[in-house]
Amino acid sequence: MLRFAPSPNGLLHLGHALSAIANERMAEAVGRPLTLRIEDIDQTRARPHFEAAIIADLAWLGVDWTPPMRRQSEHFAAYRDALERLKARGLVYPTFASRREFAEVARMTGLARDPDGAPLFPGDAAILGAREAARRLAEAEPAAWRLDMTRALADLPPLTWTETDAAGGAARTIGSEPAAWGDVILARKDVPTSYHLSVVVDDAVQGISHVVRGMDLYPSTSVHRVLQTLLGLPAPLYYHHPLILGEDGRKLSKSNGAESLAALREAGATRAAVRARVAARLAEPS
Ligand code: GLU
Repeated sequence: MLRFAPSPNGLLHLGHALSAIANERMAEAVGRPLTLRIEDIDQTRARPHFEAAIIADLAWLGVDWTPPMRRQSEHFAAYRDALERLKARGLVYPTFASRREFAEVARMTGLARDPDGAPLFPGDAAILGAREAARRLAEAEPAAWRLDMTRALADLPPLTWTETDAAGGAARTIGSEPAAWGDVILARKDVPTSYHLSVVVDDAVQGISHVVRGMDLYPSTSVHRVLQTLLGLPAPLYYHHPLILGEDGRKLSKSNGAESLAALREAGATRAAVRARVAARLAEPS
């Protein structure tokens, strides 16, 4: 089983079309179904009309997917269970610093960065001071939860994953580098899970054999391998596809002027034209 897994917090653009079509091609090549997963854990940003637009855009593109569609917001209990298992093993810890407090310290002190460019978490004591951190812990204030990466890795052998080509062949073994991420966040105060945690749980529950997603998520696979191993979940095969870049050389997004598929369609673009554009990008080297 394969999955296309967009977040319903905006309209799909060409980059999403590429991802959907890369999934469709792999599904065909390996003879397995493709399904749709709506990654809507962040309920402050997810909107039903964006979910409806995703379904309409896939139909317009002619990308067929096999129901049932999985909506992550309906499975918070499964993510909580996974977090509880990690808590029981002492592999996660609570953190009380707010995002704003963390950002302020990061701005002042120039912390090292993770592969996404976000500052590495230095611990509550470094952000709040030891005394305030202890007070919030003692008063059991609402907490976010982070993976204790050092502790987690201490118990694990070096982890790898298998990266294939676009058709599921030419398997290569990639060494993962999870330490570069530091203590990743697994549950927030306002969102009781995280991208990393929910994606590994869902890939296992849905029996995903091949994960096809953008190169921008390549570094995240290191974190996913750690979580899969800690939780005893199987490792899918991975293919990280090339990205369509915006004029600023960064991944296409609304903020760098990506036109939505809906806007392209309204301007007269045909399915064949969009598919041809995507096929051309997939044929180029990453
Ligand atoms: N929801 C993620 C995104 O829209 C994709 C997650 C994944 O494929 O693992 O970028």
